[in-house]
Amino acid sequence: MQSKLPDCGTTIFTVMSALAAQCNALNLSQGFPDYDGPLALRQALARAVMDGNNQYPPMAGLLPLREQISAKLHRYYHVNASADNEVTVTPGATEAIYCAITACIQPGDEVIVFDPCYDSYEPGIQLAGGITRHIPMSEPDFRIDWDQVEDAVTPRTRMIMVNSPHNPSGAILRHEDLSALEALAVTHNLTIISDEVYEHLLFDGEQHCSVLQYPGLRERSFAVFSFGKTFHVTGWKTGYCVAAPELTVELRKIHQFVTFVAVNPIQQALAEFMQAEPDYPAGLADFYQQKRDLFCELLAASRFGLSPSEGTYFQLLDYAAISTDADTDMASRLTRERGIASIPVSVFCQQPLTGSYLRFCFAKSETVLRQAAEILCAI
Ligand code: GLN
Repeated sequence: MQSKLPDCGTTIFTVMSALAAQCNALNLSQGFPDYDGPLALRQALARAVMDGNNQYPPMAGLLPLREQISAKLHRYYHVNASADNEVTVTPGATEAIYCAITACIQPGDEVIVFDPCYDSYEPGIQLAGGITRHIPMSEPDFRIDWDQVEDAVTPRTRMIMVNSPHNPSGAILRHEDLSALEALAVTHNLTIISDEVYEHLLFDGEQHCSVLQYPGLRERSFAVFSFGKTFHVTGWKTGYCVAAPELTVELRKIHQFVTFVAVNPIQQALAEFMQAEPDYPAGLADFYQQKRDLFCELLAASRFGLSPSEGTYFQLLDYAAISTDADTDMASRLTRERGIASIPVSVFCQQPLTGSYLRFCFAKSETVLRQAAEILCAI
Protein backbone atom coordinates (compact mmCIF):
# COMPACT_ATOMS: atom_id res chain seq x y z
CA MET A 1 0.00 0.00 0.00
CA GLN A 2 1.24 3.47 -0.78
CA SER A 3 1.61 5.48 2.41
CA LYS A 4 -0.36 8.72 2.65
CA LEU A 5 2.22 9.99 5.14
CA PRO A 6 5.48 8.52 3.80
CA ASP A 7 7.77 10.75 5.89
CA CYS A 8 5.89 10.29 9.12
CA GLY A 9 6.95 7.85 11.85
CA THR A 10 5.57 7.26 15.33
CA THR A 11 5.18 10.47 17.35
CA ILE A 12 8.11 11.42 19.54
CA PHE A 13 5.81 11.40 22.60
CA THR A 14 5.06 7.71 22.12
CA VAL A 15 8.69 6.91 21.30
CA MET A 16 10.12 8.65 24.36
CA SER A 17 7.48 7.41 26.81
CA ALA A 18 8.08 3.84 25.59
CA LEU A 19 11.86 4.26 25.96
CA ALA A 20 11.38 5.74 29.44
CA ALA A 21 9.28 2.73 30.46
CA GLN A 22 11.77 0.29 28.94
CA CYS A 23 14.68 1.93 30.77
CA ASN A 24 12.70 2.52 33.96
CA ALA A 25 13.66 6.19 33.62
CA LEU A 26 11.97 9.24 35.13
CA ASN A 27 9.59 10.30 32.39
CA LEU A 28 9.66 14.05 31.89
CA SER A 29 9.15 13.62 28.14
CA GLN A 30 5.49 13.32 27.09
CA GLY A 31 3.42 16.07 28.68
CA PHE A 32 1.15 14.74 31.41
CA PRO A 33 0.90 15.27 35.15
CA ASP A 34 1.92 12.54 37.59
CA TYR A 35 -1.05 13.50 39.82
CA ASP A 36 -4.77 13.10 39.37
CA GLY A 37 -7.46 15.57 38.49
CA PRO A 38 -9.64 16.99 41.31
CA LEU A 39 -11.44 14.39 43.44
CA ALA A 40 -14.86 15.99 42.89
CA LEU A 41 -14.36 15.74 39.12
CA ARG A 42 -13.40 12.07 39.28
CA GLN A 43 -16.33 11.34 41.59
CA ALA A 44 -18.64 13.14 39.16
CA LEU A 45 -17.41 10.86 36.37
CA ALA A 46 -17.99 7.72 38.47
CA ARG A 47 -21.49 8.98 39.27
CA ALA A 48 -22.19 9.85 35.64
CA VAL A 49 -21.28 6.32 34.58
CA MET A 50 -23.34 4.71 37.37
CA ASP A 51 -26.30 6.99 36.67
CA GLY A 52 -26.64 5.75 33.12
CA ASN A 53 -25.04 8.51 31.00
CA ASN A 54 -23.57 5.85 28.76
CA GLN A 55 -25.15 6.31 25.34
CA TYR A 56 -24.35 8.76 22.53
CA PRO A 57 -24.51 12.40 23.59
CA PRO A 58 -25.51 15.09 21.06
CA MET A 59 -23.06 15.47 18.16
CA ALA A 60 -21.96 18.99 19.17
CA GLY A 61 -21.55 18.06 22.85
CA LEU A 62 -23.85 17.94 25.90
CA LEU A 63 -25.67 21.24 26.11
CA PRO A 64 -24.93 21.79 29.84
CA LEU A 65 -21.22 21.45 29.08
CA ARG A 66 -21.40 23.79 26.09
CA GLU A 67 -23.18 26.28 28.36
CA GLN A 68 -20.44 25.98 30.96
CA ILE A 69 -17.83 26.54 28.25
CA SER A 70 -19.70 29.60 27.07
CA ALA A 71 -19.86 30.90 30.67
CA LYS A 72 -16.14 30.23 31.13
CA LEU A 73 -15.24 32.15 27.97
CA HIS A 74 -17.20 35.09 29.28
CA ARG A 75 -15.73 34.85 32.78
CA TYR A 76 -12.09 34.63 31.67
CA TYR A 77 -12.03 36.57 28.37
CA HIS A 78 -15.26 38.63 28.29
CA VAL A 79 -16.04 36.81 25.09
CA ASN A 80 -19.58 35.91 24.02
CA ALA A 81 -19.84 32.53 22.29
CA SER A 82 -23.12 30.80 21.62
CA ALA A 83 -23.38 27.34 23.20
CA ASP A 84 -25.75 26.50 20.37
CA ASN A 85 -23.77 27.30 17.25
CA GLU A 86 -20.23 28.38 18.22
CA VAL A 87 -19.01 25.77 20.72
CA THR A 88 -18.29 22.14 19.78
CA VAL A 89 -17.05 19.55 22.28
CA THR A 90 -14.45 17.20 20.77
CA PRO A 91 -12.51 14.13 21.89
CA GLY A 92 -9.41 16.16 22.62
CA ALA A 93 -7.92 19.28 21.05
CA THR A 94 -6.18 17.03 18.52
CA GLU A 95 -9.49 16.03 16.91
CA ALA A 96 -10.66 19.64 16.83
CA ILE A 97 -7.45 20.73 15.10
CA TYR A 98 -7.70 17.91 12.57
CA CYS A 99 -11.35 18.69 11.81
CA ALA A 100 -10.68 22.42 11.47
CA ILE A 101 -7.82 21.80 9.02
CA THR A 102 -9.88 19.29 7.06
CA ALA A 103 -12.84 21.66 6.94
CA CYS A 104 -10.80 24.52 5.46
CA ILE A 105 -7.92 23.25 3.42
CA GLN A 106 -8.31 22.45 -0.27
CA PRO A 107 -5.56 20.75 -2.31
CA GLY A 108 -2.78 23.24 -3.04
CA ASP A 109 -3.72 25.65 -0.23
CA GLU A 110 -0.76 26.93 1.79
CA VAL A 111 -0.75 26.92 5.58
CA ILE A 112 1.80 28.86 7.61
CA VAL A 113 3.07 27.25 10.80
CA PHE A 114 5.82 28.32 13.19
CA ASP A 115 8.72 26.03 14.07
CA PRO A 116 9.09 24.37 16.49
CA CYS A 117 5.60 23.23 15.49
CA TYR A 118 3.36 20.79 17.42
CA ASP A 119 3.56 17.50 15.60
CA SER A 120 -0.09 16.91 14.71
CA TYR A 121 -0.46 20.00 12.50
CA GLU A 122 1.51 19.07 9.38
CA PRO A 123 0.09 15.55 8.87
CA GLY A 124 -3.42 17.03 8.99
CA ILE A 125 -2.47 19.65 6.40
CA GLN A 126 -0.80 17.04 4.21
CA LEU A 127 -3.79 14.67 4.32
CA ALA A 128 -6.00 17.56 3.19
CA GLY A 129 -3.67 18.14 0.21
CA GLY A 130 -2.34 21.39 1.64
CA ILE A 131 1.23 22.68 1.61
CA THR A 132 2.87 23.55 4.92
CA ARG A 133 5.08 26.65 5.00
CA HIS A 134 7.35 26.55 8.04
CA ILE A 135 8.58 29.82 9.52
CA PRO A 136 11.23 29.41 12.22
CA MET A 137 10.70 31.28 15.47
CA SER A 138 13.72 33.26 16.70
CA GLU A 139 16.17 31.68 19.13
CA PRO A 140 16.58 31.51 22.03
CA ASP A 141 13.43 33.50 22.87
CA PHE A 142 11.05 31.84 20.35
CA ARG A 143 9.32 34.95 19.00
CA ILE A 144 7.53 35.40 15.69
CA ASP A 145 8.81 38.02 13.23
CA TRP A 146 5.54 39.27 11.74
CA ASP A 147 7.32 41.02 8.83
CA GLN A 148 8.71 37.64 7.86
CA VAL A 149 5.19 36.22 8.02
CA GLU A 150 3.87 39.01 5.80
CA ASP A 151 6.63 38.18 3.28
CA ALA A 152 5.67 34.49 3.34
CA VAL A 153 2.03 35.13 2.44
CA THR A 154 1.24 34.24 -1.19
CA PRO A 155 -2.02 34.23 -3.16
CA ARG A 156 -2.32 30.52 -2.18
CA THR A 157 -2.03 31.16 1.56
CA ARG A 158 -5.26 30.07 3.21
CA MET A 159 -4.46 29.67 6.88
CA ILE A 160 -2.06 30.47 9.73
CA MET A 161 -1.76 28.19 12.76
CA VAL A 162 -0.63 29.67 16.06
CA ASN A 163 -0.07 28.13 19.48
CA SER A 164 0.17 30.14 22.69
CA PRO A 165 1.38 29.34 25.29
CA HIS A 166 3.72 27.50 22.99
CA ASN A 167 4.64 23.84 23.14
CA PRO A 168 7.57 23.05 23.29
CA SER A 169 9.26 26.43 23.95
CA GLY A 170 6.97 27.83 26.67
CA ALA A 171 6.91 31.22 24.89
CA ILE A 172 3.67 33.23 24.81
CA LEU A 173 2.07 35.51 22.24
CA ARG A 174 1.32 38.98 23.61
CA HIS A 175 -1.09 41.74 22.58
CA GLU A 176 1.32 43.08 19.91
CA ASP A 177 1.52 39.62 18.34
CA LEU A 178 -2.23 39.14 18.23
CA SER A 179 -2.69 42.63 16.77
CA ALA A 180 -0.13 41.87 14.05
CA LEU A 181 -1.82 38.55 13.32
CA GLU A 182 -5.21 40.26 13.16
CA ALA A 183 -3.98 42.87 10.66
CA LEU A 184 -2.42 40.20 8.48
CA ALA A 185 -5.38 37.84 8.61
CA VAL A 186 -7.87 40.58 7.75
CA THR A 187 -5.75 42.02 4.93
CA HIS A 188 -5.18 38.64 3.28
CA ASN A 189 -8.51 37.05 4.26
CA LEU A 190 -6.87 34.14 6.10
CA THR A 191 -8.41 31.59 8.44
CA ILE A 192 -6.67 31.01 11.77
CA ILE A 193 -6.38 27.93 13.93
CA SER A 194 -5.33 29.01 17.39
CA ASP A 195 -4.17 26.23 19.68
CA GLU A 196 -4.78 27.57 23.19
CA VAL A 197 -4.68 24.33 25.17
CA TYR A 198 -2.32 25.87 27.78
CA GLU A 199 -4.53 28.98 28.18
CA HIS A 200 -4.35 28.96 32.01
CA LEU A 201 -0.64 28.19 32.32
CA LEU A 202 1.06 31.60 32.15
CA PHE A 203 3.55 32.78 34.73
CA ASP A 204 4.91 35.96 36.33
CA GLY A 205 1.55 37.71 36.07
CA GLU A 206 1.24 37.40 32.27
CA GLN A 207 -2.32 37.20 30.93
CA HIS A 208 -3.37 34.90 28.12
CA CYS A 209 -4.39 36.67 24.90
CA SER A 210 -7.00 34.64 23.03
CA VAL A 211 -7.79 35.16 19.34
CA LEU A 212 -11.41 35.28 20.49
CA GLN A 213 -10.76 38.71 22.05
CA TYR A 214 -9.83 40.36 18.73
CA PRO A 215 -12.84 41.16 16.49
CA GLY A 216 -10.93 40.65 13.23
CA LEU A 217 -9.71 37.26 14.47
CA ARG A 218 -12.91 36.24 16.25
CA GLU A 219 -14.80 35.95 12.95
CA ARG A 220 -12.12 33.96 11.13
CA SER A 221 -10.60 31.68 13.79
CA PHE A 222 -11.03 28.24 15.21
CA ALA A 223 -9.86 28.50 18.83
CA VAL A 224 -9.03 25.12 20.33
CA PHE A 225 -8.89 24.17 24.02
CA SER A 226 -8.31 21.02 26.10
CA PHE A 227 -9.78 19.93 29.43
CA GLY A 228 -6.85 17.53 29.71
CA LYS A 229 -4.50 20.40 30.61
CA THR A 230 -6.90 22.46 32.68
CA PHE A 231 -8.15 19.66 34.92
CA HIS A 232 -5.05 17.37 34.95
CA VAL A 233 -6.85 14.62 33.02
CA THR A 234 -4.96 14.24 29.73
CA GLY A 235 -6.23 10.66 29.37
CA TRP A 236 -9.84 11.84 29.29
CA LYS A 237 -9.13 13.26 25.81
CA THR A 238 -11.81 15.92 25.85
CA GLY A 239 -11.56 19.43 24.47
CA TYR A 240 -13.53 21.96 22.49
CA CYS A 241 -13.46 24.30 19.55
CA VAL A 242 -14.92 27.81 19.51
CA ALA A 243 -15.61 29.38 16.12
CA ALA A 244 -18.08 31.70 14.41
CA PRO A 245 -21.32 29.98 13.28
CA GLU A 246 -20.31 29.62 9.60
CA LEU A 247 -16.99 28.03 10.60
CA THR A 248 -18.65 25.84 13.22
CA VAL A 249 -21.08 24.46 10.62
CA GLU A 250 -18.12 23.30 8.50
CA LEU A 251 -16.20 21.97 11.52
CA ARG A 252 -19.16 19.86 12.63
CA LYS A 253 -19.58 18.40 9.13
CA ILE A 254 -16.16 16.81 9.58
CA HIS A 255 -16.40 16.06 13.32
CA GLN A 256 -19.62 14.08 12.79
CA PHE A 257 -17.76 11.64 10.54
CA VAL A 258 -14.40 11.51 12.30
CA THR A 259 -15.66 10.61 15.77
CA PHE A 260 -19.27 11.91 15.80
CA VAL A 261 -19.13 12.74 19.53
CA ALA A 262 -16.89 13.03 22.57
CA VAL A 263 -17.41 10.58 25.46
CA ASN A 264 -20.75 11.17 27.19
CA PRO A 265 -20.11 10.61 30.95
CA ILE A 266 -16.90 12.65 30.77
CA GLN A 267 -18.89 15.57 29.41
CA GLN A 268 -21.46 15.15 32.16
CA ALA A 269 -18.73 15.19 34.83
CA LEU A 270 -16.99 18.22 33.35
CA ALA A 271 -20.26 20.18 33.17
CA GLU A 272 -20.99 19.47 36.84
CA PHE A 273 -17.49 20.32 37.98
CA MET A 274 -17.28 23.54 35.99
CA GLN A 275 -20.58 24.72 37.40
CA ALA A 276 -19.51 23.92 40.97
CA GLU A 277 -15.94 25.26 40.66
CA PRO A 278 -15.79 28.05 38.06
CA ASP A 279 -12.65 29.49 39.70
CA TYR A 280 -10.63 26.29 39.47
CA PRO A 281 -8.65 27.32 36.33
CA ALA A 282 -7.65 30.62 37.97
CA GLY A 283 -5.51 28.69 40.48
CA LEU A 284 -3.46 26.87 37.86
CA ALA A 285 -0.93 29.61 37.11
CA ASP A 286 0.31 29.73 40.73
CA PHE A 287 0.25 25.95 41.04
CA TYR A 288 2.47 25.50 37.97
CA GLN A 289 4.65 28.54 38.60
CA GLN A 290 5.71 26.95 41.90
CA LYS A 291 6.74 23.84 40.00
CA ARG A 292 8.55 25.82 37.31
CA ASP A 293 10.38 27.91 39.90
CA LEU A 294 11.41 24.88 41.94
CA PHE A 295 12.70 23.05 38.84
CA CYS A 296 14.61 26.10 37.56
CA GLU A 297 16.09 26.89 41.00
CA LEU A 298 17.29 23.33 41.46
CA LEU A 299 18.91 23.44 38.02
CA ALA A 300 20.82 26.65 38.70
CA ALA A 301 23.71 24.45 39.86
CA SER A 302 23.68 22.40 36.64
CA ARG A 303 25.55 22.84 33.37
CA PHE A 304 22.30 23.26 31.47
CA GLY A 305 21.34 26.71 30.23
CA LEU A 306 17.78 27.89 30.76
CA SER A 307 15.47 30.81 30.57
CA PRO A 308 12.32 30.20 32.67
CA SER A 309 9.24 29.25 30.66
CA GLU A 310 6.62 31.97 30.21
CA GLY A 311 3.84 29.42 29.97
CA THR A 312 2.87 25.72 29.50
CA TYR A 313 4.21 23.01 31.79
CA PHE A 314 7.39 22.59 29.80
CA GLN A 315 10.90 23.89 30.39
CA LEU A 316 13.57 23.92 27.69
CA LEU A 317 17.12 23.15 28.79
CA ASP A 318 20.06 24.03 26.55
CA TYR A 319 22.82 21.41 26.78
CA ALA A 320 25.35 23.14 24.47
CA ALA A 321 27.87 23.39 27.34
CA ILE A 322 27.66 19.64 27.90
CA SER A 323 27.63 17.93 24.52
CA THR A 324 27.64 18.47 20.78
CA ASP A 325 25.40 15.43 20.22
CA ALA A 326 22.23 15.81 18.18
CA ASP A 327 19.27 16.36 20.51
CA THR A 328 17.62 13.08 19.46
CA ASP A 329 20.80 11.21 20.44
CA MET A 330 21.16 13.22 23.63
CA ALA A 331 17.54 12.52 24.67
CA SER A 332 18.01 8.83 24.00
CA ARG A 333 21.35 8.71 25.83
CA LEU A 334 20.03 10.53 28.91
CA THR A 335 17.12 8.10 29.08
CA ARG A 336 19.27 4.98 28.73
CA GLU A 337 22.35 6.03 30.68
CA ARG A 338 21.08 8.56 33.21
CA GLY A 339 17.51 7.42 33.69
CA ILE A 340 15.74 10.63 32.68
CA ALA A 341 13.57 11.07 29.58
CA SER A 342 12.93 14.33 27.73
CA ILE A 343 11.78 15.46 24.29
CA PRO A 344 14.28 16.61 21.61
CA VAL A 345 13.05 19.87 20.07
CA SER A 346 14.52 19.43 16.57
CA VAL A 347 11.78 16.93 15.67
CA PHE A 348 9.33 19.85 15.60
CA CYS A 349 11.43 21.82 13.11
CA GLN A 350 11.99 21.68 9.36
CA GLN A 351 15.35 23.49 9.57
CA PRO A 352 18.16 22.83 12.04
CA LEU A 353 18.07 24.83 15.26
CA THR A 354 21.00 26.96 16.39
CA GLY A 355 20.66 25.87 20.03
CA SER A 356 20.66 22.39 21.54
CA TYR A 357 17.38 22.02 23.39
CA LEU A 358 15.62 19.30 25.31
CA ARG A 359 12.09 19.78 26.64
CA PHE A 360 11.25 18.66 30.17
CA CYS A 361 7.71 18.44 31.56
CA PHE A 362 7.49 19.87 35.07
CA ALA A 363 3.88 18.75 35.74
CA LYS A 364 5.33 16.38 38.31
CA SER A 365 5.37 15.94 42.08
CA GLU A 366 8.02 17.80 44.07
CA THR A 367 9.73 14.48 44.80
CA VAL A 368 10.07 13.67 41.11
CA LEU A 369 11.24 17.19 40.25
CA ARG A 370 13.93 16.92 42.93
CA GLN A 371 15.03 13.49 41.67
CA ALA A 372 15.12 14.83 38.11
CA ALA A 373 17.18 17.85 39.13
CA GLU A 374 19.63 15.67 41.04
CA ILE A 375 20.24 13.58 37.93
CA LEU A 376 20.54 16.64 35.69
CA CYS A 377 22.93 18.44 38.05
CA ALA A 378 25.28 15.45 37.97
CA ILE A 379 25.63 15.63 34.16
N1 GLN B 1 0.91 17.23 23.93
C1 GLN B 1 1.65 16.33 24.73
C2 GLN B 1 3.09 16.79 24.75
O1 GLN B 1 3.44 17.75 24.14
C3 GLN B 1 1.61 14.91 24.25
C4 GLN B 1 0.37 14.47 23.57
C5 GLN B 1 0.62 13.16 22.87
O2 GLN B 1 1.30 12.31 23.39
N2 GLN B 1 0.12 13.07 21.70
O3 GLN B 1 3.90 16.17 25.38
